[in-house]
Amino acid sequence: MISVEEALDILKKNVLRSTIEEVDLSQALDLILAEDLTSPINMPPFDNSAMDGYALNMIQASTSFEIIGEIQAGSKGDITLESNQAVRIFTGALVPKTANTVIQQEWAKVEGNQLTFDREIETNKNIRREGEQIKAGAVAMKKGQLLNPAAIGFLAGLGIEKVNVYSSPKVAVYCTGDELIEAGNTLEPGQIYESNGKMLIASLAKYGFHNTSLHKLPDDFNLTYEALNKGIKENDIVLVSGGISVGDYDYVGKAFQKIGVEEVFYKVKQKPGKPLFAGNTKDTFVFGLPGNPASTLSCFYNFVLPYLNQFKGGAFKGLRKVNLTFDGEYSKKGERAEFLKAIANENSVSLLGHQSSAMLDSFAISNCLIYIDKDIIEVKNGDTVPVFLID
Ligand code: AMP
Ligand code: MG
Repeated sequence: MISVEEALDILKKNVLRSTIEEVDLSQALDLILAEDLTSPINMPPFDNSAMDGYALNMIQASTSFEIIGEIQAGSKGDITLESNQAVRIFTGALVPKTANTVIQQEWAKVEGNQLTFDREIETNKNIRREGEQIKAGAVAMKKGQLLNPAAIGFLAGLGIEKVNVYSSPKVAVYCTGDELIEAGNTLEPGQIYESNGKMLIASLAKYGFHNTSLHKLPDDFNLTYEALNKGIKENDIVLVSGGISVGDYDYVGKAFQKIGVEEVFYKVKQKPGKPLFAGNTKDTFVFGLPGNPASTLSCFYNFVLPYLNQFKGGAFKGLRKVNLTFDGEYSKKGERAEFLKAIANENSVSLLGHQSSAMLDSFAISNCLIYIDKDIIEVKNGDTVPVFLID
């Protein structure tokens, strides 16, 4: 059995790469830019006012100005100012070349068309200069940038309509288990409501993976083989929940073998999630996630998420890791590393109850996982512990 660190190391080296496609900027949220983009325009495209106020042509020590008109945002602003003339102007409006400053209206005194100020004013104020954010032809955004809302806003402001991105991976989730039924049906003895599939689809969506599908499988070798064989052909990544352990009805590993999935690793020295499987065919990566719900989710955060992030053109990064002070006492039994559901405050972190891999109630209210390395036996009050934040 390999350690968490070894498993992550091997996984990182086996990440397949997404293809590149051109998409509308409006469809690019959460994707990663696959090209350097140059700005087609100066931004801002013209000198414009940062204030509602008055644009002036001020010569030294001017005190009084004649207001000769008005320029609102969007208008051409073709007004020529002589010295000691002013024009009423609004935020975002074009500042005429003949103005050398804008003074906010709060400082102004207007009588008829005469404008004076109750304090000293200066030239070159409150004008957002053409190209001061970026010049036409300069690199606006580099390949590898995550297209977050601000990035999309910035590119939209440059008039960019389409971008080359690494395509969003197509991910299929398969839930195995004869005991699983859908909500809305009455539980018969031996049955439980299916939850891992919904949780995995939600997890994928939360991290920006929307090209997903959810399927259910009975504990039947042939049906498992056929469905997974098709799923592997049609998807970039296949996540299977359950059926990967050593029970008589765990058919997922055998189905992977028959399909020709090459094992990247199987079984990790961790709790929860020991029977985690990772493997690939030429074009598709598969994870066999242990069926216990907390194991499934823990394996998603710690293994699947970094894989997906690198696959889509980013870094091999899952949850953000910080160091916090442990509030409590904990002794670990066994030699596996542990991911423990916990609550992090600004500086400290404390454990939650119900750490069982079959339970999700504490996971639902946790905001982080404390990582206890396999070699650590005891954690004392005040010790520094690595923590993975669930935002
Ligand atoms: P398995 O890995 O198939 O042996 O399943 C381990 C445990 O997780 C069993 O108690 C299953 O009933 C439970 N389990 C497996 N899949 C799911 C699922 N999709 N939703 C809820 N519980 C599940
Ligand atoms: Mg099962």
